Amino acid sequence: MSAKRPSLPPHARVTYQISAVASARVSERIAAALERHESVGAVGLFERGDGQFEVAAYFGNPLIKDTLIERAKQAAAPDQVAVRVETLQDADWIKLSQGRRGPVQVGRFLVHGRHDREHVPRHRFRIEIDAGLAFGTAHHASTRACLVALDELLKRRRFGRILDLGTGSAVLAIAAAKATGRAILASDADPVAVTVAEENARKNGVASLLRVVSAAGFARRELRQLRADLILANLLARPLVALAPELFRRMAPSGIAVLSGITLDQAGAVEARYRSVGFRTERRILLDGWAALVLTRPSIAKADRAIDRFGSRLYKTDHVPKIR
Ligand code: SAH
Repeated sequence: MSAKRPSLPPHARVTYQISAVASARVSERIAAALERHESVGAVGLFERGDGQFEVAAYFGNPLIKDTLIERAKQAAAPDQVAVRVETLQDADWIKLSQGRRGPVQVGRFLVHGRHDREHVPRHRFRIEIDAGLAFGTAHHASTRACLVALDELLKRRRFGRILDLGTGSAVLAIAAAKATGRAILASDADPVAVTVAEENARKNGVASLLRVVSAAGFARRELRQLRADLILANLLARPLVALAPELFRRMAPSGIAVLSGITLDQAGAVEARYRSVGFRTERRILLDGWAALVLTRPSIAKADRAIDRFGSRLYKTDHVPKIR
């Protein structure tokens, strides 16, 4: 996703949204019915006040539109609901995001360009990034969704080893370095992005905390040996799916992966792949037609911990030898 050489498809992707407003009970029934359709990427429930909820589901194939409308109406019955279908996005997101300007605030982070240096408040984690040869000014929803996740995760937990895979401008790595004060590893398949990331780390005063390496996926010794507690990966759906098994192996138990760069209609498939290799879903963040997934590699089972503590033998309760 570098700016001058975008790896996003040049053609627009169209995402459709089907939605209805109903009571909590009815909207949950509709959500469950839509979620069961294999071509539906993500389903969200949004509170609309007065006990009403909007259920919205996203899909990429226009041919299933009538089936989904019928399904939603059947699930609502005997209540009658108005079901809407809209086209959400028919734009080149990279171009759109490049057209946007101005500081971006996400949680405790504030990302701004050089020209806004004097105008941004000082009490936040300020990250200065100029639009350039590498992707990541935080105007794009996929980056913002990662910052939302990062802000929350860092508030509730201390992470040892953090990797920003596909670092681009290094916006996420710099955010993590500023918020934790710890060393962050960042990687990118594009050597130009590596140079830009290093420059941005210097500009933001975190050069000593950031190590940026050039690598596609985990194809480098220090990445293959990694047991990360947190991996941020704002790539695209296809490379994310390809990396799933390796990404699981590179995580420490209880480690968290934040996956982004996924359009809403792709979210279901990416999530299914990651669950199939052993991840558990913590959270989905849906933002402006994009989805980010927050996944956990489950901690070692209690039984395994017992083995760790008591040696190599695992006793079933009724086999525990009596202590005399
Ligand atoms: N992390 C930044 C940039 C995301 S753009 C942000 O959140 O805004 C995605 C970056 O991932 C690009 O710089 C691209 O070169 C890199 N990338 C894509 N596929 C990759 C792969 N398989 N391995 C490593 N980097 C990859």
